[in-house]
Amino acid sequence: MKNTLIAIACLGIAAFAHGADWDEPQEPFALYGNTYYVGPKGVAAVLVTSPAGHILIDAGSPKSPAAIAASIRKLGFKVEDVKYILTSHEHGDHVGGAAALQAMTGATVIGSAKSTPVLASGKPNPADPQFGSLSDTLPVAKTRTVRDGETVTLGPLSITAHATPGHTPGGLSWTWQSAENGRAANMVYADSLNAFGLHGFRYGGDARWPEARQQLEASIAKVAAFPCDVLVSNHPDLGGLWERKEQAAQRGSAAFIDTGACRKYAERSRKRLAKQLQEEQNR
Ligand SMILES: [Zn+2]
Repeated sequence: MKNTLIAIACLGIAAFAHGADWDEPQEPFALYGNTYYVGPKGVAAVLVTSPAGHILIDAGSPKSPAAIAASIRKLGFKVEDVKYILTSHEHGDHVGGAAALQAMTGATVIGSAKSTPVLASGKPNPADPQFGSLSDTLPVAKTRTVRDGETVTLGPLSITAHATPGHTPGGLSWTWQSAENGRAANMVYADSLNAFGLHGFRYGGDARWPEARQQLEASIAKVAAFPCDVLVSNHPDLGGLWERKEQAAQRGSAAFIDTGACRKYAERSRKRLAKQLQEEQNR
């Protein structure tokens, strides 16, 4: 039931109708260079590896940690070598597994100024457009806050945070480079950009978060403009990952490169916002 509620929260009623199970098992796979997919099928988790330790982006739902850890091991890496867990946004399907993965790894969990209080307390932000339908999460013991544009470094790795509020007040997207056969690719881990309000929340203007629409529009424009070769969106189906993976089975990892992927993802989010605003007009 909890998972169902989260499903409604993140994607909307359509996902609920399709009975989405974020934790449908997924074999881990190489994306590009030192970047790997280690999440279940419905909620992404990405591992960026180095000899100095690894960085995990997102921690899945409360049901995901054991499968994410098993995926990391299956690829031949040590779970204990994960030093940072970066997060996209403060909803249980992306950070519900953070406390358990932190317990397994000792990693510091990193979010934005608006998301780390939610991570640390496990209590949803009352300004969240879905407040009232969000489950509590296990409190995360050790968190760190990054600013917009700040880079997290670990040995040779550097991954940059981009504030992308709108779906939630504290959303972050992440960019870095991975190289394969001497070719560097611009990697993007994109946050949810879905406008989805519950309990009467209005993107068109709501005292709980008056800037929601304006911030979401800016975030959509920001993601559209990223240098973008390989996109993973935190719900991977919305960014077209599974179609590209099918092609990769034939053509190899070059098939994960789609320089228009971020623009398409942004366009889809613009349409979703227009639909949300229309629905608010009709209330
Ligand atoms: Zn969400």
